[in-house]
Amino acid sequence: MAQLGEWSNWAGDQRCRPARVAAPRTVEELAEAIGGAAAAGQKVSIAGSGHSFTETAMTDGTMVEVEALRGVLDADPESGLVRVGGGTVLRELNTALAGLGLALENLGDIDAQTVAGAISTGTHGTGATYANISSRVEAIELVLADGSVRELTAAGEPELLRAARIGVGALGAISAVTLRCFPAFVLERVDEPRPREEVLGRFEELAEANDHFEFFTFPYSDRALVLERNRVDSPPRPRGVAAFLNDIVLENWTLEALAATGKAIPRTIPSLARFAGWVASGGRTVDHSHRVFVNQRKVRFTEMEYGVPLEHGPTAVRRVIEWIRQNRFPVFFPIEVRVTAGDDADLSAAHERPTAYIAVHQYRGMEWRPYFEAVESIMNDYGGRPHWGKRHFQTAATLAPRYPKWAEFQKARDELDPQRVFTNEYAARVLGP
Ligand SMILES: Cc1cc2nc3c(=O)[nH]c(=O)nc-3n(C[C@H](O)[C@H](O)[C@H](O)COP(=O)(O)OP(=O)(O)OC[C@H]3O[C@@H](n4cnc5c(N)ncnc54)[C@H](O)[C@@H]3O)c2cc1C
Repeated sequence: MAQLGEWSNWAGDQRCRPARVAAPRTVEELAEAIGGAAAAGQKVSIAGSGHSFTETAMTDGTMVEVEALRGVLDADPESGLVRVGGGTVLRELNTALAGLGLALENLGDIDAQTVAGAISTGTHGTGATYANISSRVEAIELVLADGSVRELTAAGEPELLRAARIGVGALGAISAVTLRCFPAFVLERVDEPRPREEVLGRFEELAEANDHFEFFTFPYSDRALVLERNRVDSPPRPRGVAAFLNDIVLENWTLEALAATGKAIPRTIPSLARFAGWVASGGRTVDHSHRVFVNQRKVRFTEMEYGVPLEHGPTAVRRVIEWIRQNRFPVFFPIEVRVTAGDDADLSAAHERPTAYIAVHQYRGMEWRPYFEAVESIMNDYGGRPHWGKRHFQTAATLAPRYPKWAEFQKARDELDPQRVFTNEYAARVLGP
C-alpha cells in the first residue's frame, strides 16, 4: 500500500515520492503546470494509470496527472477518426466508441490503461496482420516544457509523429490523441488446450490462420492454452454468469490460490503448474470485440516482455522453458506469446518487422531477477526489443543498434524537449541523456 505522498504502480513494486503533484483540468492548466515546473528547474513526468512495470512514469520532481483530460473530444464516424483526451481510460473509450458504432482495431489483454500511457510504451494486442495500438494514431497534441502546445500530424510533421507515437513519456505531455477507429465488430474467441510442441511447430501457420492468435504455457507443463479470436458476422452472445465464473473464479481466484501456494512452498511449483496446465479449459465466446479482447487481471505480478522477429519466436520460447527447467527456477506463472505486424514508429518493438512477443511473469513478492536476466540474454540473441512498460535491464547503448530509426527519435527529442525536462531516471537510462 502506497504511503501518503507516495505514488506506486499497479503491481505495487515501483514507488516514488514526487516533490509536487499537479492535476490540471484543462490544457491551459496543463501548460501552466508544466511551464511553471520547468521554469523552477524541476523535471516533469506524466502518470497514466500506473500500469507499467518499469519506473517509466516515476519522478521526484513534478508528477502531472492528466486524469481530467479525458473523454471523446470529437468524432467522425464516417472516417473513423476520433479525438480523445490523453487521460481517457481505454475502458471508457471502448464504451464511447461502441455508442458511435465504432471500435479500436485491436487491444491488449486489459483496458485499464490511459490512451496516452498505452501508446507511449507501445502497448499491443495480438494478430499477425494488426500492428500495435499506437500505429493507429493519426495526430497527437503535445504540451512542451515551455508550456507551448504542438499538434503533430501525419500530414504536417510525419517524422515527429513517428517519434511521438511511442515517446516513452520523454517528449512532452500528450493532451489529446486522434485515433483511427473502425466499424464495430464481433469476435468469436475459442480457447483450446493443446500440446505445446504442436503449437510451437505450427506457430507461424496458426498466427496466419487467425485474426488474433496467442497462447499461454506453464513452463513445467507440456501443454499450451491456445486462444484464437476471429471476426464473425453472428450477433454477440454475452456470457453473463459463465464469464464471471471463468474470468474471476478460474482465471483469478484459482490462479491466486495456486500462485500463493507455490510462493509458500516453492518445491510444489512444478506439480502446481502441471495441474494448472491440465485444468486450463477450453471455451467459446462470441461478443463485441472490446469485451472479447480484454480480461480481468486481479492477481498482482511483475513482467518482462520482448519482441523478436516472428520466425525466432518458437526457438526463443523453447530456450526460456529449457532454462527454467534446467535451473529448477520457481515460476508458476505462464509464458504468454503473441504476434503483431510491423509498424513504423521509431521506438516500436515491432519496428518494420513482423514480431513475436514473449512475456514472462513472476508472482508478486517472489524472486524475478535471475529469471528475467536469463530471459533477456536469450532475447538478446534475436535482437529482441523490450516493451517500454515492462521490466528489462537494457541501456541506451545496448538498445540504439536495435532500432533503425534511433537517430530520428533523438532528433525529435532534441527538437521537442531540448532541456530534457521530461527525462526521468528511466528515460535517461534507456534513451540516454
Ligand atoms: C495487468 C496488466 C496487463 C497488461 N497488458 C498489456 C498488454 O496486453 N499489452 C501490452 O502491450 N501491455 C500491457 N500492459 C502494459 C501496459 O499496457 C503499459 O505499461 C501502459 O503503458 C500502461 O498505461 P498507463 O496508462 O498505466 O501508463 P503509465 O504506466 O502510467 O505510464 C506509461 C508511460 O506513458 C507516459 N505517459 C502517460 N500518460 C502520458 C501523457 N498524457 N503524456 C505523455 N506521456 C504519458 C508515462 O510518463 C510513462 O512513460 C499491461 C500491464 C498490466 C499491469
